[in-house]
Amino acid sequence: MIVFEDEQALRAHVSPWKNEGQRIAFVPTMGFLHEGHLSLLRLAKENSDKVICSIFVNPTQFNQQSDLNAYPQDREGDLRLLKEIGVDLVYTPTKESLYGKTFSTWVEVKGLSENFEGADRAGHFRGVTTVVSILFQIVRPDVAIFGEKDFQQLRIIEQMVADLHMPIEIMRAPLVREEDGLALSSRNVRLSTTARSKALLLSQSLHSARKLYQDGERDPKKLKAHITNDLKDLRVRYVSIVDERTLQDVAHFDNAKHQRVLLAADVDGVRLLDNMPLT
Ligand code: AMP
Repeated sequence: MIVFEDEQALRAHVSPWKNEGQRIAFVPTMGFLHEGHLSLLRLAKENSDKVICSIFVNPTQFNQQSDLNAYPQDREGDLRLLKEIGVDLVYTPTKESLYGKTFSTWVEVKGLSENFEGADRAGHFRGVTTVVSILFQIVRPDVAIFGEKDFQQLRIIEQMVADLHMPIEIMRAPLVREEDGLALSSRNVRLSTTARSKALLLSQSLHSARKLYQDGERDPKKLKAHITNDLKDLRVRYVSIVDERTLQDVAHFDNAKHQRVLLAADVDGVRLLDNMPLT
């Protein structure tokens, strides 16, 4: 496994792979890797000849300096895990190398990025789509893998790639949970023991909503009320039952489409996201 901080060195290394027609898979991350990230990398390995992973804590997607400063990092541990998985190349750019002094170009996906995480965190998705575009330009992957853990982000990236005619296949990776249901996230290390047990309410509320749906409840309003009630002890940011494609709230279920619950809550100051398909 080779690690590059330098863009030109990466390009020089990847060029022959491209010329030989090797299929390159790319998994962008912010590091502090866990089983969720590793599942994306395994999927990458199964679907390509070469796997590239980037680790970059992207400052432009944080709208609070304190959140950026608190973002956990463990470069050594990450590299050990990446090697074990069999990643071919790790890209660890600096922020100065990605964002030049005169940087002034932004990629923004309207519509999909305006609700939920976008409404709560001004500029967040603009930061994500911009850095992913830059990374795509540098890495030039054939396929890039994103987790359903960040479902809104995944849809926004799919939209961006389609709109900008980027010749990259976007592959979805299912959300990975702890055994007790908590969605894996690098932010979980910031949860105290009490906060962690409160955080379980998120996945529990989703599982019980899905059970209600499976038992025949077809009123999105009622399902949403159930979830909101389950989460009454948390600071809920949003609970929504949306059409997976448009991310618009649904007034009724449609068998021809896919519907999913999206939710976020602050648990003792840590922002946690979760989601689950109902149909
Ligand atoms: P991050 O390092 O948080 O930017 O995440 C990098 C990628 O890993 C994104 O595509 C995330 O959606 C994905 N990811 C993070 N946590 C999980 C999880 N628990 N299950 C599946 N994918 C995840």
